[in-house]
Amino acid sequence: MLLDCAVIGGGPAGLNAALVLGRSRRKTVLFDDNKPRNAVTSESHGFITRDGIDPQEFKRIGQEEIRRYPDVSIEKQRVQRIVKENGQFKVEAEDGSLFYAKKVILATGFKETLPAIPRVKEFYGKSLFGCPFCDGWELRDRALAVIADGQKAVHMAKLVSNWTSDLLVFTNGSQVISQDEKELLHSKGIIINEKKIISLIGDEGMLEKIQLEDGTEVLCEGGFIASDWEQSASFQSELGYQVNDQGGIETDSWQRTKSSGVFACGDTRIAGPSQLILAASEGSMAAIAVNAELIEEKFNLQA
Ligand SMILES: Cc1cc2nc3c(=O)[nH]c(=O)nc-3n(C[C@H](O)[C@H](O)[C@H](O)COP(=O)(O)OP(=O)(O)OC[C@H]3O[C@@H](n4cnc5c(N)ncnc54)[C@H](O)[C@@H]3O)c2cc1C
Repeated sequence: MLLDCAVIGGGPAGLNAALVLGRSRRKTVLFDDNKPRNAVTSESHGFITRDGIDPQEFKRIGQEEIRRYPDVSIEKQRVQRIVKENGQFKVEAEDGSLFYAKKVILATGFKETLPAIPRVKEFYGKSLFGCPFCDGWELRDRALAVIADGQKAVHMAKLVSNWTSDLLVFTNGSQVISQDEKELLHSKGIIINEKKIISLIGDEGMLEKIQLEDGTEVLCEGGFIASDWEQSASFQSELGYQVNDQGGIETDSWQRTKSSGVFACGDTRIAGPSQLILAASEGSMAAIAVNAELIEEKFNLQA
């Protein structure tokens, strides 16, 4: 059967795309292998009506809502390949099954690589986070660390200073902050430490101290860390869409990529802030854009 749309990735972006497609009576398949980057955390914040929800519970509710719409099916497996043939997309799933669709929405998110600091993964998602808009409130007024280098350090320090006045910046051995920037941060009470971090110390994910190369241990009760990003899945060689200089898929404001019939939404675009509600909103937009194209094609064919 030729489906209207295949949605790849079932985080908030893909779930919302599938919901809007289902409500639009579009034959849709939603694929998800359930490996989102926020699996490390037990609470998601900042989504109105869902503030503080467990991310897996968010997904469960999303799938339950989508199941009300008979035109959408959910495939809990990974998509391996997508090929465009004769104006339609052949989607190859992990178990070898094939699906054919007129349009594709990519909502596969990204994965992060944390700096190579011993024990960092024990704390990430529990007392060390990437985004203060998501988790700053819970850490407010504590002694916090920003672990980042280069311009990310300056940017993050300025941002996090909104949530605490007790802030230390650790560049983990890099010396890339200019003297002017150091003076600016110092003038706001932000201390910069350029020593290499040897280890993070604490129990059950709760950061207590940062141990430095000279043996000193600095007390802190959590913080924010900069990481590198890459796509969770890439179909660029088959589909030929464009990516931006950070590796995110480029789209217009309708979530259309440069590859005809391919849309992208949520974190996979790596363009600015990354949040559940922003991803969900882009998913909705992608579904509306898919509908708009399908309607256009239907009436053009009849003309
Ligand atoms: C530690 C941490 C805390 C966070 N806290 C918050 C918070 O409090 N509030 C907030 O708003 N945001 C928070 N975020 C950010 C939020 O998780 C993301 O912005 C959001 O999940 C992006 O949604 P998405 O749908 O684009 O991608 P994701 O949620 O990453 O979903 C993508 C899905 O696609 C699947 N997938 C990937 N490739 C394939 C494939 N080939 N086939 C099938 N499935 C595939 C993945 O397994 C995954 O399930 C946090 C992130 C982290 C890391």
